Amino acid sequence: MLVISKTLRSAIPRPATLAKSKVRSALHGTRPAADPRLFDTPEAKRIKKEICAVGRKLWLRQFVDGNGGNISYRIGPNEVICTPTMVSKYDLRPRDLCMVDLDGKQIAGSKQATSEILLHLEIYKHVPEAKAAVHCHPPHATAYAITGLLPPNMVIPEFEIFVGKVAISPYETPGTIEFARTVLPFVKQHNTVLLGNHGAVCWSDTVTTAEWTCEVLETYCWILGLARQLGAPISHIPEGKGPDLMARKKRMGLPDARFDQDGSGASGNGKRKRAGGNARTPLTT
Ligand SMILES: [Zn+2]
Repeated sequence: MLVISKTLRSAIPRPATLAKSKVRSALHGTRPAADPRLFDTPEAKRIKKEICAVGRKLWLRQFVDGNGGNISYRIGPNEVICTPTMVSKYDLRPRDLCMVDLDGKQIAGSKQATSEILLHLEIYKHVPEAKAAVHCHPPHATAYAITGLLPPNMVIPEFEIFVGKVAISPYETPGTIEFARTVLPFVKQHNTVLLGNHGAVCWSDTVTTAEWTCEVLETYCWILGLARQLGAPISHIPEGKGPDLMARKKRMGLPDARFDQDGSGASGNGKRKRAGGNARTPLTT
């Protein structure tokens, strides 16, 4: 006879006591049904303000133009607050924002969600730590994305810590699921992907830090361009100092493709490789 201890028995949910959300979860696989009420919570209010502030930063720094770029935050297991389509990031107001579920179905907000939300959703589905994503077109980083060149590593410590190895995804038509999926080979080991012939996407645990990552990427690409104009070779961080940076990055919980290699961070110092327009494998310099 099967004997179930009192403790174990109390841990087993009985049908009558199952929360409604759990029942809905069963109907939708492992994902609970999206709850539109998360759009109006105090946390949502704070996040909406943060998204608007970040949108204005992106525009002021010329990382976006026209209605370009998009920002999102995963506020629940199946709820993502995001920017609408056809609104300049400079003009964003909290009431313009939208909420979608992880399938891209809009569940709140009067404006239509950005057509590029699928890109954000693919990242959230595959990277549990990712809570926020920023997609923009920063000019110097996008210059790399249209040439297929990867920025070299081990030149400036801040870039190694907050970005590190960058990947380039192949071009696809923006707004399509095929476009969204181009980043999948890279999302586990990178927090930044250059989107072939398009721009960049960065993700993090907050909207603000995702935008900081875009800033670090863009400034780094800009500095590299300026340094090349000086005509002298770019010097690199000494190889022996690489492990210090990698150890610090690991402590901060940031992803880096080099953790799965020798961990020294020293590989590829100064060697730039052409990524090629349609490369699908993780790209390193
Ligand atoms: Zn775009």
